[in-house]
Amino acid sequence: MGNKERFYVDVMAMNPGVTGSCNLVVVRLPDNNCPRIRFIVDCGLFQEKENDKYNGEFSFNPQKLDFCLITHNHVDHIGRLPLLFRKGYNNPIYTTEATKNLLPLSLWDCHKVLKDVSKRKSARQMYKSEDVSGALSLVKGCKFGVETQVHENVFVTFLTNGHLIGAALIYVRITYPGFDDINLLFTGDYKGDNVFIDVDPIPDRIRHLPITIIQESTYGDMDTEEISPCFKENIMKCIQSGGTVIAPVFSLGRSQEILYELKKMQEAGVLDTDVPIYFDGKLAIRYTNLFTANGSRGLGIKEEMKDFFPKNLTFVDKTIRASVLSSSSCKIVLTTSGMGSYGPAQAYISQYIRRRDALIHFTGYTAEGTLGARLKNAPDGSNVEVGGIVAKKRANVEYTAEFSAHAKADEIIAFLQQFTNLKLVLINHGEQEVKELFADRIVDEVDPKDVGILGRNYFHRVNPYGLAKTLSTKFK
Ligand SMILES: [Zn+2]
Ligand SMILES: [Zn+2]
Repeated sequence: MGNKERFYVDVMAMNPGVTGSCNLVVVRLPDNNCPRIRFIVDCGLFQEKENDKYNGEFSFNPQKLDFCLITHNHVDHIGRLPLLFRKGYNNPIYTTEATKNLLPLSLWDCHKVLKDVSKRKSARQMYKSEDVSGALSLVKGCKFGVETQVHENVFVTFLTNGHLIGAALIYVRITYPGFDDINLLFTGDYKGDNVFIDVDPIPDRIRHLPITIIQESTYGDMDTEEISPCFKENIMKCIQSGGTVIAPVFSLGRSQEILYELKKMQEAGVLDTDVPIYFDGKLAIRYTNLFTANGSRGLGIKEEMKDFFPKNLTFVDKTIRASVLSSSSCKIVLTTSGMGSYGPAQAYISQYIRRRDALIHFTGYTAEGTLGARLKNAPDGSNVEVGGIVAKKRANVEYTAEFSAHAKADEIIAFLQQFTNLKLVLINHGEQEVKELFADRIVDEVDPKDVGILGRNYFHRVNPYGLAKTLSTKFK
């Protein structure tokens, strides 16, 4: 059946590491007269310093894309959508309804951050405000669990995902009359649960399909049991000695989760309600207000989780920031950005890093080259550069993965094991060594027909029965 060989998709990842998520899929239909169908899944900003060089351009022609799918509202998955528009993309961007509601906040914020960065470097800005409006005008919100036809031959279903409010696993079904379907499942970033939303099990109709899963692997080298919760203990140690805790948090998800964590600590009598809690970050405060707003603007937040504020909480704005920055009294400050490199976090860290009584506690992943990662490697007493200021590192700096919004290796293995006819797992969204380690483990413990690692140097040709072959790309 020579014909069968002519129905396939080529899957490529534009991101060699964790950030800059963007998978390009090129569909080849059996009919020679049908043009190829091209789409991308996610369009993220590269945040690792070494990958910054990829930010300005795409390795494909955006004008040739038929549609774009978005898994969730994190900058490393959506930050280059305005650039896509700027480069001539003018077709629909499909995502969940909740992500559609959140996208304006994140894209406008990303635009502002990039504007500040380009000013500082006197470089040309990647995109303009009209590109943000342009990209937003293309976004279409889809309901969870309902199949949407996005092209004559392509159907997509967004499935719930605990990684983030609005996040989805995207099931893509590619059809052609007389041929078996090609089934792809993009995990985006994945987690099985979330305190704010309900996460449904994978429907059986999808679990038993011959399927290819494009799987993230951020923590593919770590098991759940290796993560020992330390946040509560660390901050209490600092508070009991009268110090200040600076906790960089991601605006969406982590901020709200840590606020809830502090509320639970107060309720359990661990944390005294006299200790003031400050929350500084414009975008984070906007997101937080959405969580509590009436009906939560279609975000799907559980009713019982709409009241998650700790007592003695103050939202910081410009008028009081200076006093919070300079006060030496005992307090907890949650601030953005989560990796420390942008936003008010820089100002707090540059002040409090010099103080022995301070604790800087990162609450999530810190990509290579970000302030969070640099502080990890800086010895006590050494000079560190924070947002253009050089300061001596005297504060205690701690990290925890306990709040991670990513499944660890063991959870991902269990996730993959539920698929009964798994043809191919393509690993992406991980550091290279992690992807390789994790691939070995999937071969051993899940044993799909094939396992591949996505990267910029080659792509994978997939047909209804799994992997056909790998080919090298022409990208640099
Ligand atoms: Zn994410
Ligand atoms: Zn991600």
